[in-house]
Amino acid sequence: WMIVGEAVVFVISLVLGVYFINRGYNKEMVASQQSRNFLLSITHELKSPIASIRLVLETLLRRELPKEKTTQLQSNALKETERLNTLVNNLLFSAKLESSYQAHKEPLDLHELLEEIIHKLSDKYPDAQFSFEQEDELPYFQGDKMGMISVALNLLENAVKYSGNESKAHIETHLGMNNAEQIKIEIKDQGLGIPEKEKKQIFQKFYRVGSEDTRTTKGTGLGLYIVDQIVRAHAGRINVYDNEPKGTVFEILLPVGQN
Ligand code: ADP
Repeated sequence: WMIVGEAVVFVISLVLGVYFINRGYNKEMVASQQSRNFLLSITHELKSPIASIRLVLETLLRRELPKEKTTQLQSNALKETERLNTLVNNLLFSAKLESSYQAHKEPLDLHELLEEIIHKLSDKYPDAQFSFEQEDELPYFQGDKMGMISVALNLLENAVKYSGNESKAHIETHLGMNNAEQIKIEIKDQGLGIPEKEKKQIFQKFYRVGSEDTRTTKGTGLGLYIVDQIVRAHAGRINVYDNEPKGTVFEILLPVGQN
């Protein structure tokens, strides 16, 4: 029996050993594949706005153009600059999250903050439609302004980005109870939707649905990672559901007065 016992222990250790080595190896493989994907998308994300801005500047320097055409080119260059800005902000934020993110909390009027972002995005995406249903009396929320702006901007921009040409984003705020008072913000779209099995993964750093070949929308896979981390830093939660009849709902739950 001693021998059988030892053999069993040996086999179990062997299986566990192989399992853990394999797991570590797989993790490394996944991590290096992810950082390769990241480098590819970041390079692409940086190159294309730089190329557009350069083209605009070269054209404006080289030729006298009618005023209308000049304005249009300038506005294109401005949009591309915005894209670069969002990208750099996301990169900075994710670096900060990994080293020393501390939410600098102050009382925030979330309605005002959301309205500002809708206004900004309406300029950037003139074809998109935004609707906003507000809770009658939403209390001030103790939050980090830059962080909450980043949360709302990333979620609302995704709602537009992943909805094709006629994108509609709907925002709702509610006040509810879950032990203490909590604010619920819902961001709904009628776009592509997110397959059930990928709903958890989308919050991982660099994760993007689909493959490099099938994707048409630009991005880095950093947005939802940042959103999730910031919401957690406010003792909140984020959930994702299917919208009816189609599209996606992101639900953010933020405790009031606890943080
Ligand atoms: P990015 O948009 O830069 O790719 P995110 O972290 O913001 O990165 O999103 C991760 C992935 O989740 C996206 O690539 C996309 O596939 C999916 N996704 C996010 N928001 C939506 C949405 N509203 N509708 C459909 N898919 C979405």
